[in-house]
Amino acid sequence: MNTQKDWKIKMRVLVTGGAGYIGSHTCVELLNVGHEVFVVDNLCNGHEAALERVRGITNRELQFTNADIRDANALDNIFNTFKPEAVIHFAGLKAVGESVANPLKYYEVNVGGSISLLSAMSKAECNNIVFSSSATVYGKPKYLPYDEEHPTNPVNPYGRTKLMIENIIHDWTKVDLKRKGTVLRYFNPVGAHESGQIGEEPIGIPNNLMPYIAQVADGRREHLNIFGNDYETADGTGARDYIHVIDLALAHIGTLNQNKLDRFEVLNIGAGKSTTVLELVSKFEEISGVPIKSKYLPRRDGDLAAFWANPSKASEKMSWKPERNIKKICEDTWRWHKLNSTGYEGE
Ligand code: NAD
Ligand code: UDP
Repeated sequence: MNTQKDWKIKMRVLVTGGAGYIGSHTCVELLNVGHEVFVVDNLCNGHEAALERVRGITNRELQFTNADIRDANALDNIFNTFKPEAVIHFAGLKAVGESVANPLKYYEVNVGGSISLLSAMSKAECNNIVFSSSATVYGKPKYLPYDEEHPTNPVNPYGRTKLMIENIIHDWTKVDLKRKGTVLRYFNPVGAHESGQIGEEPIGIPNNLMPYIAQVADGRREHLNIFGNDYETADGTGARDYIHVIDLALAHIGTLNQNKLDRFEVLNIGAGKSTTVLELVSKFEEISGVPIKSKYLPRRDGDLAAFWANPSKASEKMSWKPERNIKKICEDTWRWHKLNSTGYEGE
């Protein structure tokens, strides 16, 4: 496990999208090990209150600019003043359905934003980027678990933006030997900080399973719709690889000071096992003590039956391994929901 003492080199780290779900948890872990943090976020899906809570949890300061990563002047200002040594790049749009309905917006924000960021990095000679990619780049499994050699074939515009950005970063690293790009392909991030102070707060009706279950438990939704019970899985419901957001955050910390990483590296970040919808519901009921009402609906369009990661490359190259199980995921999610029945609202 990565402990505080392992990380002796302190860096100035620019975090794009740091006011969002995964970004805010990563800021906590960056500050906990002594890195200096600057967040740029346009708050289209993030919360300034989350950053205030990050300061409270860590008792450390972090800087913040409300700006779009496509704003070249804003980025130049940050690079000229903060002089980051590394960038962790979370900023982007992530709703699959919206990306199908409005693909140009996704190419513009995700791909355009990443090009703008890399341009600013080139100008400022900032040579180290860590990028939030997704298991969705693999597409339909040819074998499981997915390893990093699995062919990529994303089936929606969101996934295609992720793969394009991976390739752009790869090309960018080839131009100069000092440049380094690390692509983290996340599986299903869930959970919250154990303080209950920060967590996932989707706007509107949640698309993802975990926040939906939690909102049924806290009374905000009447019942859970389970999409399909005729998959070839243990109980017929879809199975995914759920990774605690703190384990995921720690993987980012791991990328910063590792000399075992190649100049361009792709790493799966998952727990390495799958959990079905019914298994997750049952664990959440046990932890919360609240029965989760549910109804079966037909399969959701485009859904895969099951997938999970082979995360051994990340373990080998970064001495990182996921340590928080499904029980801990449910406990931390439930604490966040109980303490914040309206999310960050009102702050
Ligand atoms: P999130 O929406 O909570 O965080 C993204 C943040 O980026 C938000 O705070 C938003 O305001 C900001 N942002 C968006 N566009 C911006 C722009 N143009 N300029 C500046 N800021 C901008 O999402 P998250 O779940 O924390 O995801 C973070 C990253 O991880 C995303 O790139 C996402 O695609 C990727 N990812 C997420 C998941 C997941 O299930 N949550 C899975 C795989 C990959
Ligand atoms: N799911 C569900 N009801 C919901 C949301 C999701 O049954 O309201 C199922 C979905 O079909 C899949 C699993 O839960 O099998 C995980 O879905 P999620 O959207 O969280 O992750 P993704 O499918 O993007 O990996």
